[in-house]
Amino acid sequence: MKVPLLDLQAQYATIRKELRAAVDEVMESCRFILGPYVQEFEKAVADYCGARYAVGVASGTDALLLALRACQVGPGDEVITTPYSFFATAGVISRLGAVPVFADIEPETYNINPDLIAEKITPRTRVIMPVHLYGQCAEMDPILEVAEKHGLKVVEDAAQAIGAEHHGRKAGTMGHLGCFSFFPSKNLGGLGDGGMVVTDDEDLADLVRILRVHGSKPKYYHSIVGYNSRLDALQAAALQVKLNYLDEWTEGRRRHAAIYDERLRDLDLVTPRSWEYNRHIYNQYTIRVADRDGLQQHLKEHDIGTALYYPLPLHLQECYRDLGGREGDHPEAEGAARETISIPVYPELSEEQQEYVIGQISSFLGGK
Ligand SMILES: *Cc1c(COP(=O)(O)O)cnc(C)c1O
Repeated sequence: MKVPLLDLQAQYATIRKELRAAVDEVMESCRFILGPYVQEFEKAVADYCGARYAVGVASGTDALLLALRACQVGPGDEVITTPYSFFATAGVISRLGAVPVFADIEPETYNINPDLIAEKITPRTRVIMPVHLYGQCAEMDPILEVAEKHGLKVVEDAAQAIGAEHHGRKAGTMGHLGCFSFFPSKNLGGLGDGGMVVTDDEDLADLVRILRVHGSKPKYYHSIVGYNSRLDALQAAALQVKLNYLDEWTEGRRRHAAIYDERLRDLDLVTPRSWEYNRHIYNQYTIRVADRDGLQQHLKEHDIGTALYYPLPLHLQECYRDLGGREGDHPEAEGAARETISIPVYPELSEEQQEYVIGQISSFLGGK
């Protein structure tokens, strides 16, 4: 049996007609840049999250970049974030001439450890950027508290967490700005790249809106230098269709996660921890195993897709050698990078497929 890590064709098959009609409508209208389809989808995401403003941009990476720019992050500034995330989280900081400063993660959730943030704050710190990794929110209350105490902004990297909840609040709406990605493998994935910034702050929303059109307002008058970074109307129309299914799909992921939790519990591995005040949306179901590489090889030989998110922490990346990060600086992130592996949890995964995955993991670990 073959079980991919993610099966986008299975999802497409369920909404094919609706999706093609939506894309066709945009083509017939020829309203390709911003315009009604983007506006409608921005409003839908704002409503879904309970945010006042939503601004569609070209990718999740650009959402982070423009959000940091809106916070006035520039050369020499520092942004505190996690060393255990997709590269974009740190890359956008560097692209603004600022410096990523890493605080290690909590081993249970793999999210930034709020207790390690205060000691990283310097006069150059501008922003704290927690990442809601795998679809579970970071511990936002102590993060918001330390940010407020030091007059810092909080930008949530919610690229993997649209629809996740934390003490009843939606991911992306707890900090000053929240950033989503519509990369095809996210829970709400487009037909290509796309992203969104949400905020309750009118001035920050205006700034992001100006930044995505070269810093112009009104058109052809530039008070700041911005970017060309708009959510494409074709993407907005497709995403609008998919947003209607998001909660149903997320429930499918959560159902599969609960089955794994139960069935993998007695094996020699660590299943994901999720706290009761979090609604984890399981963009990834990530387990921790001593012989991770052996397990990955075994599953590969049995046609089961897996991925390592992420095999090398950010402070040890070659491009950050100048920052002086060393092995041992962030032991929890380093341990997670050695031992975690993500397994198929997508909504369309069938019962037989999931049984097969469980069976293969059990047989590798010797049914202990
Ligand atoms: C996917 C992702 C991004 C980047 O989003 P893109 O849309 O691919 O640019 C940023 N941060 C995290 C944590 C991500 O998972």
